[in-house]
Amino acid sequence: MQIKGTTKLLGIIGDPIEHSKSPLIQNAAIEALKLDYVYIPFLVKKEDLETVLKGFQAINLVGFNVTIPHKENIIPFLTNVSKYAKKIGAVNTVWLTKNGWQGTNTDIDGFIAPLKELNRDWHNILPLVIGAGGASRAVIVGLEQLGCEEIRVVGRNFQKLNAFKDSFLYSCLNCRISVYGWHQIGDLIPHSDLIVNTTPLGMYPNIDISPLTKEQNSLVKPNVIAYDLIYTPRPTLFLQEVQKQGGIIIDGSEMLVQQGAKAFEIWTGKKPSIEIMSKALLFS
Ligand code: NAP
Repeated sequence: MQIKGTTKLLGIIGDPIEHSKSPLIQNAAIEALKLDYVYIPFLVKKEDLETVLKGFQAINLVGFNVTIPHKENIIPFLTNVSKYAKKIGAVNTVWLTKNGWQGTNTDIDGFIAPLKELNRDWHNILPLVIGAGGASRAVIVGLEQLGCEEIRVVGRNFQKLNAFKDSFLYSCLNCRISVYGWHQIGDLIPHSDLIVNTTPLGMYPNIDISPLTKEQNSLVKPNVIAYDLIYTPRPTLFLQEVQKQGGIIIDGSEMLVQQGAKAFEIWTGKKPSIEIMSKALLFS
């Protein structure tokens, strides 16, 4: 990649930002298409967000990704927010227009991309979502978009779970959300067609941990789909155990690549190579 006087700027803001894989996968896609762009990580403190946005606008930065802790806080600074980002209450992709900054959330596209390939009758699929944090919100909206009619969410803190459920009250979701305590996982597993782990349980370096106990793992349906948002390691212990039971497994790498690909398309108007982005992630 050659940076010239004409090179257009893309990037990602967050704090911390050093761990982000997005510069790797985005710059690989830029290089493959020989586009005159560069994607840079920016460490941005919460208190500097507004100043940074003004600076980005002044230098005509084309667009950027948003990660923790700015996904929600950035919304008041945007001129327009997509209906999906509004439903989730978080933005991960921003781009500059003549009317100001526009924002959306491509995590939904990223999450559902590998599920769409399975060609299921989603109206008859009963999903169980483990965890009720930020990523879980994109999972819920994604599952609603696929057509799931009921979504069960399990978490360790009932107060947070109820607040999570209530936060969707005005989102006009076409599905029912029911929440359950952690102790109920064992009863829910045998009835679940899709189990999504949205907690960090099992993420590097805690690779010997799983959200399910060995006994709970043995209760999964034989044709269950297990989806872990974690992408290091690939697969997690949770996915390894489900695979042993004959289930279909999906790790978080495709979600990461697909949400990035969607953002890339918004900024550049070009479809990036999913294969090249995945390889960049795999060999990182
Ligand atoms: P988050 O907002 O902090 O939410 C984490 C959730 O996990 C919360 O509900 C939290 O419960 C729960 N949790 C944390 N530790 C737990 C434990 N020991 N036992 C039970 N529950 C626990 O984080 P996030 O942004 O949603 O990210 C969650 C995971 O998804 C991370 O592993 C992240 O890397 C991954 N992710 C992947 C992608 C991708 O593209 N593949 C995208 C986004 C996120 P409390 O609320 O009770 O603390």
